[in-house]
Amino acid sequence: MIQIQTHNVTETEHAGGSLAKKLSPGALVAFTGDLGAGKTAFCRGFLHALGYTGRVTSPTFAIVNEYDTELCRVCHFDMYRILDEDALYDIGWDDYFDGDTILLVEWSENVTGALPEDRITVDIRRGKAEDDRVITIEGGNL
Ligand code: ADP
Ligand code: MG
Repeated sequence: MIQIQTHNVTETEHAGGSLAKKLSPGALVAFTGDLGAGKTAFCRGFLHALGYTGRVTSPTFAIVNEYDTELCRVCHFDMYRILDEDALYDIGWDDYFDGDTILLVEWSENVTGALPEDRITVDIRRGKAEDDRVITIEGGNL
């Protein structure tokens, strides 16, 4: 278990970048935490650390955004509007598990039953001050 305290959005992006450097293609990262916790910020840092230079925004309406990085394809999901695992069939969920793709899953609490046992979890909570966050990373022999 790794716990990181951040005090601004840039530090959370850096935490995402550090995790990116430890993972291999095929990994799945399941995020939990409220709206505005910093999940997308963490994913932005993750993608930039893998050499993606463009904009990284929330895939709330698209459900999934795909990025080509120097390491592999990264698919960034937002399950906020996915109310149960059944709805995942509509987006071809199983096809994303090709072993060559890293999956980043925001609002993973909505699809817990569809997540592999072998996953990294990242929980982001607010801390004492307005911009403080506590990031807890578990799984994956980190
Ligand atoms: P989520 O994807 O969890 O809904 P976002 O990453 O989209 O959250 O938004 C986080 C918001 O909180 C941004 O507006 C960001 O500027 C702000 N923020 C303030 N402090 C932090 C911090 N320590 N880490 C991440 N975001 C922060
Ligand atoms: Mg988000």
